[in-house]
Amino acid sequence: MAAIKRILITGGAGFLGSYMCERLTSAGHDVICLDNFFTSQKSNVAHLLDLPNFELIRHDVTLPIFLEVDEIYHMACPAAPGHYQFNPIKTIKTSVMGSINLLGMAKRCGAKILQASTSEIYGNPTVHPQPEDYFGNVNTVGPRSCYDEGKRAAETLFMDYHRMNGVNVRIVRIFNTYGPRMHPYDGRVVSNFIRQAMTGNDITIFGDGSQTRSFCYRDDLVEGIIRMMNGPDDFVGPVNIGNPGEFTIRELAELVIELTGANVKLIEQPLPADDPARRRPNISLAKEKLDWQPGITLREGLQKTIEWFRGIDLSHYRPPTPNYT
Ligand code: NAD
Ligand code: UDP
Repeated sequence: MAAIKRILITGGAGFLGSYMCERLTSAGHDVICLDNFFTSQKSNVAHLLDLPNFELIRHDVTLPIFLEVDEIYHMACPAAPGHYQFNPIKTIKTSVMGSINLLGMAKRCGAKILQASTSEIYGNPTVHPQPEDYFGNVNTVGPRSCYDEGKRAAETLFMDYHRMNGVNVRIVRIFNTYGPRMHPYDGRVVSNFIRQAMTGNDITIFGDGSQTRSFCYRDDLVEGIIRMMNGPDDFVGPVNIGNPGEFTIRELAELVIELTGANVKLIEQPLPADDPARRRPNISLAKEKLDWQPGITLREGLQKTIEWFRGIDLSHYRPPTPNYT
């Protein structure tokens, strides 16, 4: 078995973080999950609490913290538009001050640190599909800027700590990911559509539904992230991790209706400001350097996600922001 590492996962109680806690504890590592539970709940990691190699810390990454670890997966940041726009100043503080605090920890401990960046750094892209060397088309003063510019600044900080202080960094740009344990009221398109279909409500298409996204199933995504952390030290990224299958939002809605068997209609609502018109990752670099590509189709992934949604009690989830229908 590979050496046991002390691994810190910030945002570890979230949708992606909680699955990473599961993967890395079952691989035998000592995992510290750090979270302020802004967009998640303890129930996401409750099944891990009795494990001898799992520890949970309630903490906000905008404040310093001193821990001794070998690896850091820096996932803490609200990710759904409704969540990150709830308190935009806190969002950009989380990305910038959080990265400074965690990079400081990595420098002090000599730990390797991975940043969960995002396809949002490409903004509303004029190059399609998006390769890593595309610099993006981002509005600095719009409602999405707190997230996009915070994540862009975080990438800059990671590269500067790497070049100036020799910190061993990794940057992954995550494209839209979905799966079990998404917050059912996070307002993201997959959770919204499934919840609306299951509860017999009409499905809300923003705009005319011709905008596209590329949806990656959680397990594929997390495999890509873990491979990047364990990849060669001379490949720090950024690397795109996502599923290149591209769908219009209307196609997604129709597939959700088919798979849930729901008898609901599609209704159009205004398109939010700066909503990217299309998005699709070029994953050549991940294939070449990490031998990674996704294996789960949207149909298969949605089936698993719908199954999970059918098993939860929606009344246990408090809508955390007003941005849901
Ligand atoms: P999520 O909202 O479920 O998880 C984020 C976690 O971070 C939550 O548990 C939240 O409580 C925690 N958090 C937020 N602010 C914090 C703070 N100041 N201090 C400590 N904890 C804090 O979202 P997710 O989809 O699991 O996203 C995880 C990471 O991946 C985020 O950094 C996000 O930007 C990135 N990402 C996700 C996607 C996606 O499609 N899921 C796409 C691109 C990037
Ligand atoms: N969207 C939609 N109906 C919804 C929620 C989202 O049509 O109920 C659209 C949204 O306008 C965007 C796409 O779905 O074009 C993806 O939205 P999401 O919030 O999931 O992620 P992001 O815009 O950050 O990719």
